[in-house]
Amino acid sequence: MLKRLSVTADERTCINRTIVGRLLQDSPHVQLPNFTTISGTDVRCLFDHYDELYFGSWLRRALGVIPLEFRVSPRMTRAGGKTGFWRKDRNSPIERFEIAISSTLLAQTFSDDQADRTIRVTGLVCRTRLDALMRIMEHELVHLAELLCWDSSSCSQDRFQSIAWRAFGHTDHRHALITPRESAAAVGIRPGTHVRFDCHGKSMHGFVNRVTKRATVLVHADDGQQYSDGNTYRKYYVPVEMLEPVD
Ligand SMILES: [Zn+2]
Repeated sequence: MLKRLSVTADERTCINRTIVGRLLQDSPHVQLPNFTTISGTDVRCLFDHYDELYFGSWLRRALGVIPLEFRVSPRMTRAGGKTGFWRKDRNSPIERFEIAISSTLLAQTFSDDQADRTIRVTGLVCRTRLDALMRIMEHELVHLAELLCWDSSSCSQDRFQSIAWRAFGHTDHRHALITPRESAAAVGIRPGTHVRFDCHGKSMHGFVNRVTKRATVLVHADDGQQYSDGNTYRKYYVPVEMLEPVD
């Protein structure tokens, strides 16, 4: 199936238009290409349309009774999507799959103030959140298909990239969605930055240790936890917009 899979650019345009039409019509959340919320059910519907129109429902047949779940994750702050799979031990067959999509990256990208920035996902220009969601789903579908066929999958390998190109026209396996780390860096907040913030009316000083959805700020405290630099700190999770860089 995967070795033969080949879709022309024209066929792709046509199939994708059908998928967009179905999703906009059926989803209670995805009513506009720049939707603001999305649910696991939307991701499942998207999967079903792709499976039907690109794979002739081969993915569902290959899965058989193995469960495949769908999830939207606000906590994924680097990857746009992830295909998870579980097995009892290394030599056991996979007994469950999950496709997760990052709502944080989609929400952070495609706001009005980023209109001048070109966003590419899998090498293809995305103009809306729906474009990006579809490219992410396509990438995860190749992971799933590889896992079903060969029990392993890696998007940095030739086999993956060949399938992704032939089926979906992908020229890259990465995304350029705006991560929390990048948008924080744009306002001068990076690991190591000294910052000030208010906590229960008190002004606190510390430095940024990490940026995920929020920033982790370490503040000197005698009763804090010991860190590898020998000092003791208390850890605060602070929304980036509440941090003020200081010299
Ligand atoms: Zn990948």
